Amino acid sequence: MMKKDDCIFCKIANGEIPSKTLYEDEDFRVILDLGPATKGHALILPKDHAANLLELSEDTASKVLGVAKNLASKMQEKLHFDGFNLVQNNGEVAGQTVMHFHLHLIPRFKDDGQKIGWVPGNPTEEELEAIRNQIVE
Ligand code: AMP
Ligand code: ZN
Repeated sequence: MMKKDDCIFCKIANGEIPSKTLYEDEDFRVILDLGPATKGHALILPKDHAANLLELSEDTASKVLGVAKNLASKMQEKLHFDGFNLVQNNGEVAGQTVMHFHLHLIPRFKDDGQKIGWVPGNPTEEELEAIRNQIVE
């Protein structure tokens, strides 16, 4: 496994530091977040170190949503949540605090008091066209 020596999620993912593990396979460990937004808030951790989505191998990237789907399915059955959010922060400016890729699965319950979101903008058609061109050209 590709590990980074000073990375706490490498140590957790590879079992060197104990965690509340919900699932494990060859590529991933899924744990309970120690600062949960809601009951059951889980983190999907690849065992190989990657700082963020851009560093993740194609193979791992292609598998991670399947892990999330299976976990969500199990949680729906066991926790009876009303919905869930998948959150994945890349970079400090985006709120990433642990620099080892992780996908949050946050179960949502009616009136759970949590809010995950952003302030919507109101761009003109020209502004949308300009950003589209910047990205695709
Ligand atoms: P992010 O802000 O996306 O980098 O999320 C980091 C998450 O990791 C936060 O929700 C923390 O509560 C959680 N966290 C940090 N350290 C640990 C740990 N040792 N075990 C479990 N969760 C952790
Ligand atoms: Zn790591």
